[in-house]
Amino acid sequence: MVRERLEDLLRERRMVFDPEAELARAESDEQRPVATAPGPSVLETRNLEVYYGHFQALRSVSLAIAARQITAIIGPSGCGKSTLLRCFNRMNDMIPSFRAAGEVLFEGRNIYERAMDVVDVRRRIGMVFQKPNPFPKPVYENVAFGARINGYEGRLDEIVERALRQAALWDEVKDKLRHNALALSGGQQQRLCIARALAIEPEVILMDEPCSALDPVATLKIEDLMRELARDYTIVIVTHNMQQAARVSDWTAVMMMADDRAGEMVELGATREVFTNPRDKRTEDYITGRFG
Ligand code: ADP
Repeated sequence: MVRERLEDLLRERRMVFDPEAELARAESDEQRPVATAPGPSVLETRNLEVYYGHFQALRSVSLAIAARQITAIIGPSGCGKSTLLRCFNRMNDMIPSFRAAGEVLFEGRNIYERAMDVVDVRRRIGMVFQKPNPFPKPVYENVAFGARINGYEGRLDEIVERALRQAALWDEVKDKLRHNALALSGGQQQRLCIARALAIEPEVILMDEPCSALDPVATLKIEDLMRELARDYTIVIVTHNMQQAARVSDWTAVMMMADDRAGEMVELGATREVFTNPRDKRTEDYITGRFG
């Protein structure tokens, strides 16, 4: 049943994540580690607990994010996926009722340590949001924005072009760099936001439902782009779309809500394993559509 459903999911779209093909490609590609085990992890949570006021949103979440691979976080709405993602670059700090315990290690160091430079954490761990949120400014300024703040003033043209090329947007906007970014299509705006994140040379890109506001064609472009970017960057994507997780990710983390609605990590495994041979009954029920 689970296997049939996965095969349906995989057949449905052309961009299938095929571990055998990926493995063959990775072996001939030194930049990308072979996807047989999580390998070196860039980010790790250890017994992470999150509260909003008295409400516990995450309970004892421990997981490792593999370097230069794509990890998808899936699970029913409200199980804490975005909360977890936002802990990876301290984006929750802005929420007054937010409180965290446990550790979030980035390259071995707890980013919740008092001495941590949060601005530097957010520079190295970029974020792309659900709705494209370009500034109402020219395309060029959108990409140059973070680079200007981070003191790359002298080489802005080069940085803007590189980031737009990396985001597979350069050819579409190179003659519109002075146009207002809000005139671009939704899919172009989202790729512009990815370019904006790339311009400051992050190591990790967090994506919170990056395609949920996009049509299927624009979605496929972003998914293609993610596979391309995973050669150089570590990507964590939150998605409620299981087909998307199956298509793009190397690793899938499944979250669920306990009876008191606190989010828990149910399993983390190679994407094909999780979809065809889940270890946890709750994962099986979820991916076969029995609930969620
Ligand atoms: P998901 O991304 O899986 O849908 P979220 O991380 O958005 O889940 O939310 C997890 C839980 O935390 C939900 O019960 C949600 O209502 C609660 N929550 C999220 N953000 C806040 C907030 N800023 N203040 C209070 N509760 C919040």
